[in-house]
Amino acid sequence: MTYRLPYRKPIESIPYDEFYSALEPNHAPDGTFSGVAVGDGWYRLVMDLNQELTEKYPNYSISQVKEKFGDLRYYTQGLDEEGEKMVSLAARDATKTCERCSRAGDLRYANFYEVLCWWDAIATVVNNARDRSFNRKKAKARERAKNAS
Ligand SMILES: [Zn+2]
Repeated sequence: MTYRLPYRKPIESIPYDEFYSALEPNHAPDGTFSGVAVGDGWYRLVMDLNQELTEKYPNYSISQVKEKFGDLRYYTQGLDEEGEKMVSLAARDATKTCERCSRAGDLRYANFYEVLCWWDAIATVVNNARDRSFNRKKAKARERAKNAS
């Protein structure tokens, strides 16, 4: 068994179902909607953005929400320049918000680019190292078992 460092719990714990339902009325029609997938540290930020946009652009729709290279990607239809600016401002806030716990974070490279606070960055690096060592030991044990039989 490997011991893994726990990641910090988000300041505000929002279940995925609640996050998903909040955005659901704005999902683009089937076939053009390809999902929402960000860490729960960003749930509140994304839900607030969606609410602000919905008030101003009731017919706007979401094609996809995801994280890529540590950036929030919020793809929409039906926004004007001002709406796009609201999206950029939220994306800028996301570059300073830990994607795991929503505390202050920075873009860091652990196993890939992510916006993480110090604690979650350290936990990620330590857990990756433990996983690699565990997998090496497991592979060796398998090899020994194979040779013994
Ligand atoms: Zn964090």
